[in-house]
Amino acid sequence: MRGSLFAALREAVGAAQVLTDGDLSAYELDWRRRWRGRALAVVRPASTAEVAAVVRACAAAGVAIVPQGGNTGLVGGGVPDASGTQVLLSLQRMNRVRAIDTANLTLTAEAGCVLQAVQAAAAEQGLLFPLSLAAEGSCTIGGNLSTNAGGTQVLRFGNARELCLGLEVVSADGEVWDGLSGLRKDNTGYDLRDLFIGSEGTLGIITAATLKLFPQPAARTTALAACATLADGVALLDLARARLGAALTGFEVMGRFALDLVARHFPALPRPLPGAPWTVLLEQSDTESEAAARARFEALLGAALEAGCITDAAVAESLAQSHAMWQLREAIPLAQAEEGPNVKHDIALPVSSIPAFVAATDAALQARFPGVRLVDFGHLGDGNLHYNVQAPEGVDAKRFLADEEHAVNKVVYDAVLAHQGSISAEHGIGALKRDELAARKAPVALKLMRAIKQALDPQGRMNPGRVL
Ligand code: FAD
Ligand code: ZN
Repeated sequence: MRGSLFAALREAVGAAQVLTDGDLSAYELDWRRRWRGRALAVVRPASTAEVAAVVRACAAAGVAIVPQGGNTGLVGGGVPDASGTQVLLSLQRMNRVRAIDTANLTLTAEAGCVLQAVQAAAAEQGLLFPLSLAAEGSCTIGGNLSTNAGGTQVLRFGNARELCLGLEVVSADGEVWDGLSGLRKDNTGYDLRDLFIGSEGTLGIITAATLKLFPQPAARTTALAACATLADGVALLDLARARLGAALTGFEVMGRFALDLVARHFPALPRPLPGAPWTVLLEQSDTESEAAARARFEALLGAALEAGCITDAAVAESLAQSHAMWQLREAIPLAQAEEGPNVKHDIALPVSSIPAFVAATDAALQARFPGVRLVDFGHLGDGNLHYNVQAPEGVDAKRFLADEEHAVNKVVYDAVLAHQGSISAEHGIGALKRDELAARKAPVALKLMRAIKQALDPQGRMNPGRVL
């Protein structure tokens, strides 16, 4: 059986692209180094037809498939399990930009295109693809859509779902659905595109996508503001929305301890507002000029000082300073990885509930696990916090994770649901949150999701054990 599967895979993609031995950890070990699996084979198709042939070969052999893009996912969804029975299908060789239509403002890219390459291809035409996240140098469009990635521009442009007009998908039985429409309006029945987006490889394999582009802003400017409380941060958001309107493209928050970790692990990065309990990063995209954007920032921050919702602020004077401000924000997950394992939460809440949620949950965690350190940061503008819990100083981080993760999750997720939030804002469910989803999602919603899974993947071979 195995022999005939390997023969069919080699026939589909060429022997050199079917990897079965040597060091496969780039495919089998996830970015967080939490999940290390073993693949039956790593298969690297270079075209949609090759993907379809691989899927058909696996279907004939009854073998499960785990699709993988850049392997930067944070929920254990893109690496095989330890059984050694799953084929890892890497999309990395499918990395062509197929077309750019500047009049229609669309770009069609293959699933394995690295996000940064898509941004660059748009920029070459003087256009903007706004999806942006710290992993953009290695994550892929297929992975971004499969996880419905968020990032730092959601406030203005929405998440990956809102940036996608059409998809090309290989179904579980190896058929190709060409849905690469560049239409902004298309009400012809159920929305298959939206079904595959965010499905984390459990319904089919995305092989290409048609994406929305936007005009490049004339200038981008960044500012930092110090807030005494999170409620002040929310008040600043109110003020910024009112004064900047659609020019406000980023609104990130960083807790003091999160920035302390950055200082510890990346001491060369400048920290303009040291000691602030909360630091907010604001980004403005302007259709006029940098000077106009800076002037609007000065006026906004002056008003915020007067209103008492900030205690200090710094406006970037140059592109390099803007860059350095973003680097502070983007270094947080990297600094956390250096600090050691932690209990990660990627949660969404109504923005208005965030201050009360954080106050109540911090207190509940301290009562139960005295001394735990909270690495709070995230996309405050769209109500998405990365509310991570690090072991108390001096406590072995691995041990803490192994012993207390479940109990920490219970405290946090109970509070999230009590505040009408979501246990996954942008990273997805993967393997990490599958049981939490089963326990916490409404039974009717779970029943409908299982019916969809059954209809599209009746044999349960597409990324099994993930999401459902
Ligand atoms: P992978 O990790 O390879 O896969 C992710 C999931 O998608 C898996 O379940 C996989 O099976 C499935 N998949 C991948 N490609 C396909 C395909 N072509 N067809 C079907 N299924 C597929 N995420 C955010 O949303 N916002 C952030 O701000 C953010 N910041 C991050 C910062 C860092 C430093 C890191 C390491 C990660 C961050 N992430 C963030 C998480 C991650 O980068 C995103 O989830 C990204 O979208 C994953 O893309 P990928 O190509 O690496 O996918
Ligand atoms: Zn994020």
